[in-house]
Amino acid sequence: MKGTLKRLRDAIWHKDFSADQLRRYVGEYQKCYFTYAGDESLRANAASGGSVSALLVYLLESGQIDGALVCRTVIRNGHARPEFVIARTREEIMAAQGSKYAAVYFTNDALPLLQEFDGRAAVVALPCDATILQRTRAKLPDLDRKIALVITLFCGHNSEPVLTDAIVRRLGKGHGALTGYRWRTGHWRGRLEATFADGTQVVRPFETFSDYRNLYFFAQPKCHHCFDHFGYHCDISAGDIWSPRMKAHPIKHTALITRTAAGQALVEAALAAGVLVGSEEPIEEVVNGQARTAPFHYNVTVRARVGRLFRLRIKDRTDAPVRPVDYLIAFIALLNERISRTRPGRWLILHTPRPIIRLYLYVLKGLESL
Ligand SMILES: Cc1cc2nc3c(=O)[nH]c(=O)nc-3n(C[C@H](O)[C@H](O)[C@H](O)COP(=O)(O)OP(=O)(O)OC[C@H]3O[C@@H](n4cnc5c(N)ncnc54)[C@H](O)[C@@H]3O)c2cc1C
Repeated sequence: MKGTLKRLRDAIWHKDFSADQLRRYVGEYQKCYFTYAGDESLRANAASGGSVSALLVYLLESGQIDGALVCRTVIRNGHARPEFVIARTREEIMAAQGSKYAAVYFTNDALPLLQEFDGRAAVVALPCDATILQRTRAKLPDLDRKIALVITLFCGHNSEPVLTDAIVRRLGKGHGALTGYRWRTGHWRGRLEATFADGTQVVRPFETFSDYRNLYFFAQPKCHHCFDHFGYHCDISAGDIWSPRMKAHPIKHTALITRTAAGQALVEAALAAGVLVGSEEPIEEVVNGQARTAPFHYNVTVRARVGRLFRLRIKDRTDAPVRPVDYLIAFIALLNERISRTRPGRWLILHTPRPIIRLYLYVLKGLESL
C-alpha cells in the first residue's frame, strides 16, 4: 500500500519534460542549484531558504553594491501592502524578506527609486517587472550603469490586494486594526501571520490564503498574458522547490538558476564563502519542483483561445501545444478570475465553506497533474 501511494505521489509530482519544453519554460541558463542561507538568522523569515537575501547581504557587505531594491510590507490604513524600498543595510534587507502576494507597480513605484538612487544597486523583481527593467535599461544608459545585478523570483501569478484584505478581515474579527502581516514564512507550505491592535497574533496555515490564490480567484488579469514563470531577464532566478524529496529535508531550500556570467560568479563565490550552502542540481529537478504550474503558466495559447469565451483578448506569443485537459484548466482559471471581479462572485467565493474550496482546488491540482 505504502509503495503504491509513493508511486502515485511520484507520478503526480514527477514529469518527464522534453529538452524543447525545458528550453521554452526556463530560457537561457548556465547552472542550477538548491541552496539555503548559511546564516541561520537569514532563514527565519525567508520565503524559501533565504538565499536571495543572503546574496544581497553578501553583495552589500563586500562593497559590490550600495543598496538593494527589495519589497517590504507596510500597513497602510489597516491594509497590508507591498512597498518597494532601496535597502542599504543588512537589517533593512532582512526586514523585507518573504514573498508579497499582492499586486506591485514596478514602473510607477520602483523605477523612480532606482533613477534617484546615487550608487550601485541590486534589484529583486518579479519576472514581468524584470522585463520592464530590461527594456528601460536599454533606453536609459544612466540607469543601466547603476544596476549591478538582477534577481527574479519564480512567479505563477500575483493576486489583487482585495484577497489579502478579505483574509485579514476574517482573521481579525474583534481584534482591532491590522498592525503587522506576513504572507508566508516557515517550512514547506508555510504559515501566514497577522498581528492586530489588541496585540493578538493570529497564525494560520498558508493555505488559508493560498487555496484561493491557487484557484486563480482574485488573480491579476495581466498574469493571463504572461508565460515567464522562471524569470528570463535576469542574472539569477530564485524560487521554491515543491518536490517531495525536499519536503523531507529539515531546512527549506531556494532553487537558483544562474543565467549570466555575473550571476554564476556570484553564486560560486557565495557557496565558497559559506554565504550559501547547497549543491548543483539538474534543471529537470528545478522544473519538477514546479511541475503542475509552470506548463500551464507557459501555455498562453490555451488561455488566448478560452479567453474568447470571456471576451478577453489575450495575445499569444508561445504557440504552445494544447491538450484537451488544458482547455478545462484554462476555463477554470479564467472563470475563477472573472467571477472574483464581480460583487456576487466575491460574496460566493468568500462564503463558500473552506472544505468545498479545498475540494475544488484538489480537482484543479488533479487536472494540472495529468
Ligand atoms: C507574487 C509571487 C509569486 C511567486 N510564485 C512562485 C511560484 O509560483 N513558484 C515558486 O517556486 N516561487 C514563487 N515565488 C518565489 C518564492 O516565493 C520566493 O520568493 C523565492 O523562493 C525566494 O525565496 P528566498 O527565501 O530565497 O528569498 P527571501 O530571502 O525571503 O527574499 C525574498 C526577496 O524578494 C522580495 N520580494 C518579495 N515579494 C516581492 C514582490 N512581490 N516583488 C518584488 N520583490 C519581492 C523581498 O523583498 C526579498 O528581497 C513567488 C513570489 C512572489 C512574490
